[in-house]
Amino acid sequence: LEAASLTTQISGQVIPSNVPGSLAMAVRQPAGVVVGIAPWNAPIILAVRAIATPLACGNTVVLKGSELCPATHGLIIEALQEGGLPPGVVNFVTNAPADAGAVVEAMIAHPAVRRVNFTGSTRVGRIIGQTAAKYLKPAILELGGKAPFLVLDDADVDAAVAGATFGAFANSGQICMSTERIIVDEKVAEEFIAKLVARATSLPLGDPRQGPVVLGSVVDQTTVERVNALIDDALAKGAKLLCGGKADNTLMPATLLDHVTSAMDIFYEETFAPVKAIVRVKNVEEAIAIANDNEFGLSAAVYGRDTARAWQVAARIESGICHINGPTVHDEAQMPFGGVKSSGYGHFGGQAGIDAFTDTRWITMQTTPRHYPF
Ligand code: NAD
Repeated sequence: LEAASLTTQISGQVIPSNVPGSLAMAVRQPAGVVVGIAPWNAPIILAVRAIATPLACGNTVVLKGSELCPATHGLIIEALQEGGLPPGVVNFVTNAPADAGAVVEAMIAHPAVRRVNFTGSTRVGRIIGQTAAKYLKPAILELGGKAPFLVLDDADVDAAVAGATFGAFANSGQICMSTERIIVDEKVAEEFIAKLVARATSLPLGDPRQGPVVLGSVVDQTTVERVNALIDDALAKGAKLLCGGKADNTLMPATLLDHVTSAMDIFYEETFAPVKAIVRVKNVEEAIAIANDNEFGLSAAVYGRDTARAWQVAARIESGICHINGPTVHDEAQMPFGGVKSSGYGHFGGQAGIDAFTDTRWITMQTTPRHYPF
């Protein structure tokens, strides 16, 4: 757990000092040991994200693997070690599920640990945030999402259908940025929904080991049962099933529920599955209100040909990320990735990631005799 080289300077900026003869500089230096905790749903990119920027900033890292994909997470660490990183620079810890709380607290509490990053559920994110606060360790929390996808009355319907299909069903909906709520203006609803249903029902579903498919297995049977209950609840309260439906095994079909309202659990709860809610709205104001009627705020999308209006809508959506005429699922290394509200706080990526995994210090050097009052 020894930090690699805490004296490395990442960047510096000269700041004028008011003291005659004093040269002053704000510098960014590595923070120390960074603990990264990654989930199973995109095991390679999310575990690499948990350690890449911290390493690039001169820190050492300890990755805590997910109990659901410890071998995949372990291979990433092995590859970096085989690639020649010195001993101790990247480290790997796994745990039995029942021990997660104690193991994570011990890691956060260790005096060498200076930063924590966590990608996972909002439920566990709240626990990690509290533990990090107890030990005064800054944390980045990348948590759940319920991304709204707004189809305005002037949207290019075919482009919106393509974006919604990808955002809703990629990785069987098991992405934090997945399109979860499709909010469509009633003036284009019939055409948009008919085309979306046609695309959704044509997506190949099956065991990926037998050949290429779009929809594979969801992570476990618990997910199937949880999402089946969301479907039952929505149908009992007046939603209309357009395609798909409940599943009896982990191969869940693309499922669309129309006329979803805020009385239904699926309106607020992350499905993390290929089961999506459609809400019809009368106008832009209602679309924005529905989009913001949610505790989450990670990603969002707005489709409209009047891009100035779409930009105004994007500005009013309470989310860390919003794409105009692009899908809710979109990540790039240089973007400041992060959410608001119950989707967490802090950012990976780009300059924001460098800020997150370094300490800002102010260093001055007196070059002439200094005047003192006594
Ligand atoms: P999870 O929160 O169930 O588990 C994540 C980690 O938390 C695991 O390593 C586990 O060991 C640990 N953990 C469990 N109980 C703990 C406790 N009491 N104390 C400390 N640590 C504990 O999440 P998951 O099921 O692996 O991932 C799915 C969730 O992650 C979804 O909600 C999804 O939206 C979210 N997610 C968010 C992003 C993002 O960037 N915002 C990306 C991917 C996934």
